[in-house]
Amino acid sequence: MEEQRKIISKIDSEIIKLLAERRDLSREIISLKNENQSLIRDKSREKELLTKLVELGKKAGLDSYFVTKVFHEIIDDSIQLQNKIVLDKDNLDSSSTSKVVAIQGIEGSYSYLASQKFFGESKDEIAFKYKESFEDVVKAVESDEADYAMLPVENTTSGSINDVYDAIIGSQLSIVGEEIFHVKHCLVGINEIALNKIKKIYTHIQAARQCNKFLSGIKSASVEYFIDTAQSVQKIKEEKNPHYAAVASEEAADLYDVIILRENIANQPGNFTRFLVCANEPITVDTRIPAKTSLIMATSHKPGSLVEALSIFRDLGINMTKLQSRPIIGNPWEEMFYLDFIGNAKDSNVKQLLDKLGKHVRFLRVLGCYPSKDVDRIKVNVPLQTEEEIQQDEATPPSKEKESKPKAKVSYKLASREYKSDDTLVKAGNVTIGGDNFVVIAGPCSVESKEQIMACAREAKENYAQILRGGCFKPRTSPYSFQGLGYDALKYLKDAGRAYELPVITEVLTINQVSRVAEHSDILQVGARNMQNFALLSEVGKSLRPVMLQRGMMSSLDELLNAAEYILAKGNRQVILCERGIRTFETATRNTLDLGAIPVLKEQTHLPIIVDPSHAMGQRDKVIPLAKAAKAVGAHGIMVEIHPEPDNALSDGPQSLYFNQFKNLMSELAKM
Ligand code: PEP
Ligand code: MN
Repeated sequence: MEEQRKIISKIDSEIIKLLAERRDLSREIISLKNENQSLIRDKSREKELLTKLVELGKKAGLDSYFVTKVFHEIIDDSIQLQNKIVLDKDNLDSSSTSKVVAIQGIEGSYSYLASQKFFGESKDEIAFKYKESFEDVVKAVESDEADYAMLPVENTTSGSINDVYDAIIGSQLSIVGEEIFHVKHCLVGINEIALNKIKKIYTHIQAARQCNKFLSGIKSASVEYFIDTAQSVQKIKEEKNPHYAAVASEEAADLYDVIILRENIANQPGNFTRFLVCANEPITVDTRIPAKTSLIMATSHKPGSLVEALSIFRDLGINMTKLQSRPIIGNPWEEMFYLDFIGNAKDSNVKQLLDKLGKHVRFLRVLGCYPSKDVDRIKVNVPLQTEEEIQQDEATPPSKEKESKPKAKVSYKLASREYKSDDTLVKAGNVTIGGDNFVVIAGPCSVESKEQIMACAREAKENYAQILRGGCFKPRTSPYSFQGLGYDALKYLKDAGRAYELPVITEVLTINQVSRVAEHSDILQVGARNMQNFALLSEVGKSLRPVMLQRGMMSSLDELLNAAEYILAKGNRQVILCERGIRTFETATRNTLDLGAIPVLKEQTHLPIIVDPSHAMGQRDKVIPLAKAAKAVGAHGIMVEIHPEPDNALSDGPQSLYFNQFKNLMSELAKM
């Protein structure tokens, strides 16, 4: 083993050397780009590059997902570097080597970690000023004690941090940057201890909110708020009580030399905090760098004035990313609005916006324009298989122009085209279902094990499917058939989805499963057998997760749309319909796929429609032609069952595709 490890270390240092060389070339390229003012990003070149690398990787036996992930990081780094060089050139101050940053909290706090990430330098080059309150952080910059203030403004679990908005609004500072930091909370202690023996937990109030589910599970402990997470760790070290614990980052645990009792204790793994970096002077951002602008405004206290102000954004096609209202001190019930939007203060439409807004509002101040941290990553498309790779014959069903039919009187409203003429776009993670997209949902009928769902996720991702399915609770005809692994399966499904960055979908059978499943599954499925379970429909209607509603096997389209109406009427407007075959006199196939339903539904409703050829046919060799047919008749996507070993599947084996068939399917669809 020694021998191999030596070689691995050598390869790793080689990789580092090459990455550094690559960076040097990026530096050279940006000065050339600056000379002729060409765009910093050349997306078509990036796509070409990635496609070639994926191909190369495939030949060398590397997953395309792995290659894409590694090179996304490398390309991001290169773009960030080039952006920074351009930014420093235009804003001399920000390029000076030593910076004094004021933060709320001490070394090891999240503001500290986010500052290191933002300034991207070694500890020595940033000097920190540790402050107790956000107001003091702001004051430190105003009084020139510090150059920058690093301020957490919002968190994906606990929401906006109002004190920070108030401190920024009340100051004259400019926003010069943003940082997004992945906050991974741990429970730490001075020695190993069973969780139910802990008596007290010190934590910052925000951290407590982000971990309240975990913390409320430790019944023996009281939770005490403290100034910041790092000081909570210091506190348990000082007090030396073995029954005390704290919530903090892994870095803080390392720094203060305490033990991690439990990792990842936040309510959700996607726990991110957005920080704003503020300084006394604004910066200018080259228009080639994607930028955001922030402002505060107060509208007049009369009906419609906020709508009027916001309609200026719409008219100019400017995308708002944050709207926060804060009370105006001294004017009870009057509000000030804090806004972020995508755009550069130098853009002509942003100038127009500010000009028009200024005429409408009582107060307007631009807080700053700064580079956006949202990365727009390039996607690689499905590679087409060659003729030899495909043994299938090509049969493309002819498409016919649809004719409009007279409308019948309907008993549903929200689901109808009359109510909403534009197609509904359903968002699950970063996947859009509906409109012109064609989405492929793939996965096993049932989640059978960690390994099985992981293998399916990998296969789905490698073949460019966008959503992972897997049944956790199974509606089975016989009570003696496999009923699904329940919440264990849900965890495996979610982990597999996360490992391959695929949103996941799973079926809910009962009302009391809905909220718990919704915590983990990106989409909820209501199965064919439950299409008219009106109590269940109402319950998923209250969820914030999109719902895919399967057509009942003996239901008319009118009944399907009325079932969708139940969900919509409860508030959930993210509904997907699924045609999965209906019961007819024909017994040659498991069900009869009603392809005619697709163009009819598209006329009657704005909701996206997915076709499930697997459950419709019940035989795997007939899934591919029907999937193609679904695309041809205008479905917004398909859902297919795949399995690493269909012959050993615990449910629906005969209709589950072998992985190589699935690959053929994806290639066939890509040709259409
Ligand atoms: C399934 O998706 O595994 C399923 C049971 O679907 P349906 O409700 O359409 O039968
Ligand atoms: Mn199934």
